[in-house]
Amino acid sequence: MTDCIFCKIINKEVPADLVFEDPDTIAFLDIKPSSLGHTLVVSKEHVKTLDELPDAQAQSLMLTIKKLTKALLKENQGCNIIQNNNSVAGQIVDHVHFHVVPRNEGDGLQLNFGVHKEFSGEEKKNVIETIKKNI
Ligand code: 5GP
Ligand code: ZN
Repeated sequence: MTDCIFCKIINKEVPADLVFEDPDTIAFLDIKPSSLGHTLVVSKEHVKTLDELPDAQAQSLMLTIKKLTKALLKENQGCNIIQNNNSVAGQIVDHVHFHVVPRNEGDGLQLNFGVHKEFSGEEKKNVIETIKKNI
């Protein structure tokens, strides 16, 4: 995609702090990190959301996420893995990617949904059926 910042990074038209690359994936530091080592793991195939990614690319992406998790957990106490689909969920760059965010005691990051709701048995039954149908 000509106008996509992550495609430009993949094609080396825009510089980035690369930490890993293989034929299907690339990983580089986030330009606005939430913690030191905050890494974006990106599929080289341009699709917007995770559901659009072919299975083979999704497998490669997960292996790279695991590699980055392993590397970052050697130097940090924990990490969060975050992936946003569509603007309503906070997606800013419309090219599928995962954030691997190192966590340490006292880092001050607040990563939670902040809301916990109650649903009836009927609502849960219906949503289970709908999810199963849509898989
Ligand atoms: P999203 O909200 O789409 O999951 O997050 C996109 C992330 O991409 C943001 O955390 C943002 O800081 C990062 N980002 C946006 N543009 C660039 C860029 O040009 N270079 C790098 N390294 N990161 C970027
Ligand atoms: Zn792209």
